[in-house]
Amino acid sequence: MPPDNPQDLDLAQRETRRTVQLDDYAAFLPQQQIDRIHEKAEGLQHLHVAHVNSTFYGGGVAELLDDLTLLMNNVGIRTGWRVIQGAPDFFSITKKMHNALQGGDINLTDLKKQHYEDIVYKNAVRTHLDHHNLVVVHDPQPLPLIQHFHRGGPWIWQCHVDLSRPNAELWHYLQSFIEQYDAVIESLDAYRQDLQTPQRTIPPAIDPFSIKNKELSEEEIDERLAHYDIPRDRPLVVQVSRFDRWKDPEGVIAAFKKARRDIDATLVLLGNVATDDPEGTEVYESLLDEQEERIRILSVEDTALVNALQRRAAVVLQKSLREGFGLTVTEAMWKGSAVVGGNVGGIRHQIANGENGFLVDSVEEAAERIVQLVRTPELRARLGKTARETVRHRFLMPHMLERYLDLFAGFETQYRLRD
Ligand code: UDP
Repeated sequence: MPPDNPQDLDLAQRETRRTVQLDDYAAFLPQQQIDRIHEKAEGLQHLHVAHVNSTFYGGGVAELLDDLTLLMNNVGIRTGWRVIQGAPDFFSITKKMHNALQGGDINLTDLKKQHYEDIVYKNAVRTHLDHHNLVVVHDPQPLPLIQHFHRGGPWIWQCHVDLSRPNAELWHYLQSFIEQYDAVIESLDAYRQDLQTPQRTIPPAIDPFSIKNKELSEEEIDERLAHYDIPRDRPLVVQVSRFDRWKDPEGVIAAFKKARRDIDATLVLLGNVATDDPEGTEVYESLLDEQEERIRILSVEDTALVNALQRRAAVVLQKSLREGFGLTVTEAMWKGSAVVGGNVGGIRHQIANGENGFLVDSVEEAAERIVQLVRTPELRARLGKTARETVRHRFLMPHMLERYLDLFAGFETQYRLRD
């Protein structure tokens, strides 16, 4: 059922344009599960939800919000999406925070803290959340927003980074903001921290109907690869990632070079740069010397190309050193591809080693798995088949939606959400 909020939507448009509906998932999920989610949403129709993050594209959070906010509207919960703004120096500070939350060092000066809080305050002044009765703030960039609002309902902070070993000094600083929230969402149980605030786990999920994930014909795949002159004469080894050191692009190239002593293949590293990640361009440029006929490094925004590469690849790598969840892993697994992932964070949560993909701890192990998979199509097919089932059972968007609905319903007793 479309939401009943026709205020500024052209209804004629709505009849010809269509976003993904929960009922579309009947193609992949039991009807009983879909009915149960509709029922849960039924009791929450009075909610007006705002999600706030810091980039409209590039990276997993934007990807999630794009799909999730539409699906929430589809089940009748008015849900908006706000993006905070900042100049590159703001995002340079927040990227350092992101790195430090994942265990990196940080030089957290008073000046940096002041700048961070000032920019968030400016965003608070420009962001009107008067009509919302539930707010979900994503990641550290907009975290201090909460200080500047009179709350009409619960505020939730959702953290998407790998919190297995956060920098203690930074965590201590952020904790003063985090503990003002009514709940914290992490992607895995393993990321739980010592906090006053209740913590819940909601693993991310994908939209199988999006351009990035929908079925493509062999002709469509060929067309996308040809468009970028990606050679199709040898097996493809692919990693799709933001250009970020934690994704270990250097390790990917090193593993590929080692593997190439035994097999003939082409490596494609496809990446993009998010607006809230000022380090991306530098990482991309630092890799360019490695380009050659059989090592292609592409920085383009093309979701159909992501789809084509993940589908055609003999091996999809995600050799991360830290990974909050790793939607690229989910996307490739959904496509029935054989994935080799770094044995960290959310990748370990998705891949059961040897059953639906492989986990690796080093460049050497990655190289061995590339060789093995390129040589053994039957193994690729077996892993890929199980991988698709893993995603179908656990990581499609309705799974995530249902967990949100459960969390939202839990607040009903705490707050008077109804007007
Ligand atoms: N992505 C993309 N184009 C690229 C690189 C990445 O569309 O060139 C997408 C990718 O398909 C995935 C998201 O960006 O949906 C990355 O999410 P992930 O959780 O893997 O990592 P994050 O960037 O959030 O650390």
